[in-house]
Amino acid sequence: MGRTGFVYHPDYLKHDMGAAHPESPARLRAIVSRIQETGTLDRLTRIDPMMASDDWIGQIHAPAYVEALKRRAPTSGRVSLDADTAISPGSIPAAYLAVGGAVAGIDAIAKRSVDHVFCAVRPPGHHAERDRAMGFCLFNNVAIAARYAQQRYHIARVLIVDWDVHHGNGTQHSFYRDGSVLFFSTHQYPHYPGTGRATERGTGAGEGFTINVPMEAGDGNDEYHAVFLNVLLPAAETFKPEFVIISAGFDAHRDDPLAGMGLTEAGYADMTGIVAGIAKRHAGGRLLSSLEGGYDLTALAGSVDAHVKALLDS
Ligand SMILES: [Zn+2]
Repeated sequence: MGRTGFVYHPDYLKHDMGAAHPESPARLRAIVSRIQETGTLDRLTRIDPMMASDDWIGQIHAPAYVEALKRRAPTSGRVSLDADTAISPGSIPAAYLAVGGAVAGIDAIAKRSVDHVFCAVRPPGHHAERDRAMGFCLFNNVAIAARYAQQRYHIARVLIVDWDVHHGNGTQHSFYRDGSVLFFSTHQYPHYPGTGRATERGTGAGEGFTINVPMEAGDGNDEYHAVFLNVLLPAAETFKPEFVIISAGFDAHRDDPLAGMGLTEAGYADMTGIVAGIAKRHAGGRLLSSLEGGYDLTALAGSVDAHVKALLDS
């Protein structure tokens, strides 16, 4: 059984897009109180996030975008960046700390203080493009973490598994021409953000290193299990990742208000076991999981608890 770390910081609660916004601080409060109640938190190693440096963020995002975000940050109230993404006074520090949570998780795994890490961070990241905030996301935490792992620790091949119900357009675009990062995504299709067709497979040196599996509305544990077994597993056996990262959204849960899939807590535990098995066979167990979506508070908290328990037991 592996050791599992947990990244969290109260400043993640200071990013506030408004009382009616589904991507709210209440999400992290629900997660932390659930894993406290179940005793899962006591089994985890606490890892403190750091403030990410502009150098590492600049591996994925255009410096002009980062500067513009900082310039637009309000001292009170909120500023809208797109139809559903806004920043409050606490947003930019939270975004730096979210990236820094993933980076601190990579450090802890690389130094073998733990085998896996779950990052309970916000804002999420997988929709953030090189020069644009999008879909509740400011910085692409997972993409930056993958590059950091490669450059800081000389890791050649990183597998990113994105099971958020929405396609991880920002992550896909970050590595679309790159054969050193295998990006695998299951997502409801057609759905927001509109990308993620099976024909999007990467290009140039990256051709074949993007794998999109569009899922039909209503698909649940059995359909996801089959895809993870029949598509992800053989691809991972060929790719032989040295590090595995999960873009862990829990909005494909049957109770989620933003999508129409049918996963349950047991489904998330099952997928976690399969991905952790890949990490064990090829990557010395090294696995980082970072929170993306998940908007029904009860379903989110229960699914994270099941996910983290499956990591602890793997
Ligand atoms: Zn999502």
